Amino acid sequence: MTTIAEIPASDTWQRAMRDGIATVQELLEIVQVDANCIDAAQPTGGEFPLRVPRSYAARMRKGDPADPLLLQVLPLHAERMDVTGFENDPLRETGVANHGVLKKYRGRALLVTTPACPVHCRYCFRRHFPYADQVAAKDRWGPALGALQRMTDITEVILSGGDPLSLGNRRIGELLHLIKDLAHVDTVRFHTRFPIVLPERVDPGLLELLAATPLHTVMVVHCNHANEIDRSVHLALEAVAKTGTRLLNQSVLLKGINDDAQRLESLSRALFSCGVLPYYLHLLDPVSGAAHFDIPASTGTQLIEELRRRLPGYLVPRLVREEPDRSCKTIIG
Ligand code: SF4
Repeated sequence: MTTIAEIPASDTWQRAMRDGIATVQELLEIVQVDANCIDAAQPTGGEFPLRVPRSYAARMRKGDPADPLLLQVLPLHAERMDVTGFENDPLRETGVANHGVLKKYRGRALLVTTPACPVHCRYCFRRHFPYADQVAAKDRWGPALGALQRMTDITEVILSGGDPLSLGNRRIGELLHLIKDLAHVDTVRFHTRFPIVLPERVDPGLLELLAATPLHTVMVVHCNHANEIDRSVHLALEAVAKTGTRLLNQSVLLKGINDDAQRLESLSRALFSCGVLPYYLHLLDPVSGAAHFDIPASTGTQLIEELRRRLPGYLVPRLVREEPDRSCKTIIG
C-alpha cells in the first residue's frame, strides 16, 4: 500500500530532470562499463542529446555493456550511418500539426504539448521533430484549444510530446480544466514515460489533478523491459491507479533489448503486477539514427505467437506498425 510519505515532494522530479546525466563519459563511469567495450559517441551540435535520469541509470547492471536499459539511452556511432529507408520524419508529421494538434485517428486528437522529455530514447521517432514551431503550449494553449473546439467529432484528447508530464502541475491543471470544458470530449489520455524512468514525477499534486478531473483518465506508459520496473516505479503506478486512471503500456520491439519471448513475458508479468495491461508492441518506426534497433516484422510475429502460448490473452500486447497517412495503426500480430 502506498502511503503519502512514500510519494516524493513536488520539486524532486524537476531537480532530477535538471541534474540528469548528459555525457557518455559520465554514464559509462556510473555503470562501470569500459568505453573500449562499446562503440559509444557523444552527440554534438544538432544531434539528439544524451539525457538520462540518475535514478534510471541506478537500475542498470554494473559492468554490463549489453544492459537493456543502457542500450536504450546510450548514443552509438551507428546512429550516424545513413541507412536506406530510415528518415528524419518517418511518420510525416512535420508541418501537419495545427498549433500542436495532430488529428491522425478518428474520434481522437493528439496534442503535442511540449518538446521536453525526462530521458532521450535513442530509437525515438520524434528525435528530429521540429518542436519549436509545433507545440501547443507555445501560445498558452489558446489556438490549440480553439482547434480542438472545432473538432466536434472527437471524444478523446491524447496528451503527447515530448512527454506531457514534463509540464508542471499548474500547467497540467490548466489544460485539464480547458479540456473538460470541451462539450464533446469526455476522455483525456497521457502518453508518458515518466512513471517508468522518473517515477518521482508522480507527486501528490499530479495525483490530486488526476483524481479530481471529471474526465475519464487513461495513462499509457512506455516500458520496454522488466528491469525498468523497481519498487519506486511500482509505487508510482499503484498510486496513479488509485486515482481511477486506467493504465496501459506500449513498448517498442528493440534489437538486443526485448527481442526475446522470455524478456517480453517477464515484461508483461511485471507490468501486470503494477496494475498495467500490455497494450501495444510497436515495430520500430524507421527514423534515421535508429536502424541498429530494427527487428523484422516476421520475428515480431513469431514472438507474439510464442507469447500467446505462454500467457493469458490479456497479457499479450498487439504487435503494430504505425504508417504515415493511415487512419489507424496496422495490426501485424
Ligand atoms: S520519452 Fe517518448 S518522446 Fe521522449 S525520447 Fe523517449 S520515446 Fe521519445
